Amino acid sequence: MKLPRKISTYCPKCKAHTKHEVERVKKKKASELAWGQRRFRRVTSGYGGFPRPKPEGREKPTRKVWLRMRCEKCKKAHQSPCIRAKKFEYLE
Ligand SMILES: [Zn+2]
Repeated sequence: MKLPRKISTYCPKCKAHTKHEVERVKKKKASELAWGQRRFRRVTSGYGGFPRPKPEGREKPTRKVWLRMRCEKCKKAHQSPCIRAKKFEYLE
């Protein structure tokens, strides 16, 4: 999937269509202080293995792409519902 770096889309703050900057949301490193990460560390420590079963079946052919749109008028950012794509690129 190819998208230009600037698109015109709806801004929930301005309540109108404005120009937005498109940015791909990357996965952040898990914070060691987050509750889920603390629980994960506690559950995996000591005896007993991984708390979840291994994923079965084939790998999905596409991945979810999250996009963060930043309005150029009010500078507010919002994330659109993710789209599935094999590959994501910016249009030059
Ligand atoms: Zn706006």
